[in-house]
Amino acid sequence: TQDFRSDGPRKVGQVKEVTSLANPIVKDIKALTVKKSREESGAFLAEGLKLVIDALELGWTIRTLVYAKAAKGKPLVEQVAAKTVAAGGLVLEVSEKVIGSITRRDNPQMVVGVFEQRWRQLRDVKPKAGETWVALDRVRDPGNLGTIIRTADAAGASGVILVGETTDPFSLETVRATMGSVFAVPVVKATPEEFLAWKKKADVSVVATHLAGAVDYRTIDYKRKPVVILMGNEQSGLPDTLAKEADALARIPQTGRADSLNLAVATAVMLFEARRHILTLSETR
Ligand code: SAM
Repeated sequence: TQDFRSDGPRKVGQVKEVTSLANPIVKDIKALTVKKSREESGAFLAEGLKLVIDALELGWTIRTLVYAKAAKGKPLVEQVAAKTVAAGGLVLEVSEKVIGSITRRDNPQMVVGVFEQRWRQLRDVKPKAGETWVALDRVRDPGNLGTIIRTADAAGASGVILVGETTDPFSLETVRATMGSVFAVPVVKATPEEFLAWKKKADVSVVATHLAGAVDYRTIDYKRKPVVILMGNEQSGLPDTLAKEADALARIPQTGRADSLNLAVATAVMLFEARRHILTLSETR
């Protein structure tokens, strides 16, 4: 069913009204909750006005803006709608029912943006003095990945390298957990072989974290070279193939009953230690 109120092909600058869940554009947008559709289209969803504004401010390309009728006329919504039109995107004004079918159920958002994915190529990553990167071996949990991207942003890390088969940084759950940092932190994808080949050429110090690491993470020199903090998979930790190529195998001392720290927590501890000499209160907001 074609339920656009205006007839004919879409003209840039028009706002389309949609009330039917069967609308093909709505169906395509909903499909972006599935990884395969995101891969095929190269797009992803950002829920909520704050995230959409963050993305536009950081120059991300918006394909479609969807807002609920109730949000119509709100100055910020009008502004993002105007920006979307100026960027050649489509603006959809939809019923609560339609936006509710796209966005989260618990805390439904009034605004959703469809953006183009952006990946940094590993060959373009040339860390300079003072830079810190995070490399994640087969990260599985979207919440962990989102939290790590958010933490990398807060700690001033330069980017996140996803090594091997990992969860998708552009999934709804990951994007939610980043709280907007997905738009600020470059994300790179690499196989373990590509990562190791890159490591040989890049003048970096790879500090791998390992439960069997012999070195206290606080004794490492993080100033000598740009640092790559390498973190292991949630279930199996870091494989030997990666661990043996690291410049240091670091451990965070623990007491108590827990065998290990949560991956995102361990990454945060490492990042703030590695950047301790750089981060100062006067630089923060
Ligand atoms: N069962 C896994 C193992 O044996 O390695 C536990 C993995 S842990 C949940 C996930 C990752 O967090 C580890 O691979 C490591 O990178 C990091 N990690 C967690 N606790 C750590 C600690 N105390 N010292 C160093 N790294 C730690």
